[in-house]
Amino acid sequence: MKLNHTNYHSHCDFCDGHAPMQAFVEAAVAEGLTAYGVTSHTTFPTPGKSLQPDTYKLYFDEFFRLKELYRNRIELYVGLEIDYLDEVRNPRLQFYGTLPTDYTIGAVHFVANERGEWMCTDGNHERFRENIALYFGNDIRRVVELFYAQSRCLIACGNFDIHGHPDKIALNASLFDPAILQESWYEELAYNHICSLAGGDFLVEVNTKALEQHNRIFPGIEWLPLVRRLGLKLVVNTDCHDTDKVLSGRVATLQLLRDAGIDKVWELHNGRWGEVEIRI
Ligand SMILES: [Zn+2]
Ligand SMILES: [Zn+2]
Repeated sequence: MKLNHTNYHSHCDFCDGHAPMQAFVEAAVAEGLTAYGVTSHTTFPTPGKSLQPDTYKLYFDEFFRLKELYRNRIELYVGLEIDYLDEVRNPRLQFYGTLPTDYTIGAVHFVANERGEWMCTDGNHERFRENIALYFGNDIRRVVELFYAQSRCLIACGNFDIHGHPDKIALNASLFDPAILQESWYEELAYNHICSLAGGDFLVEVNTKALEQHNRIFPGIEWLPLVRRLGLKLVVNTDCHDTDKVLSGRVATLQLLRDAGIDKVWELHNGRWGEVEIRI
């Protein structure tokens, strides 16, 4: 088996993934992954598909059925991708602590306007354009500022194991305005956020989901020299929502890390996180 063939961030039809959990596990086995983690979204503030109060138990039941079924073929782990929404709905919510997770991912996908209406900052760009017009009068800077404000709250909140896709807003923001990532106010927000990750008691995800389609990883390629200087503890994940994407962008991303002078990433094996050398 190849080293570094792992993925600890994935979705399935318990949330917004496009196939049953077992189909993703089958795909991971077929691709030769040594370890795979299922991390459905906790309950969204909008109608998008996410875990609901009556599906958490089904989600874990299905995971443990598969863990037993595939125990000789792949290491399976279960987590949650937990949003920071507000002072109550965040990774400190007591309910999450009662669930049998191996780890959790803390991430930001939503911002609210002054009327308290939530907008998803992630995913489909056409929907992003409709929402930003509807909820923020096309004020992209306001949405980006709110995204990083939410991200600061997430880091201050803590109580998660992996910080998911730190600058994810870069994709939809740059599709909305191609010049935005070079603007000094944007660079300052992203720079400050990445700097704030140094010394945290969590791993930082390098998310490969958009590499093949949009040539972008999160944190962006342009931030890798800073990531290296800060010595962030990295875990490379595909964040797959489709079964043909369990390894999407992974090898190319590991190469990008190496090109930036980063030669180690973190992996979970036998229930323990450890640092391993990148070998591709
Ligand atoms: Zn996410
Ligand atoms: Zn995700």
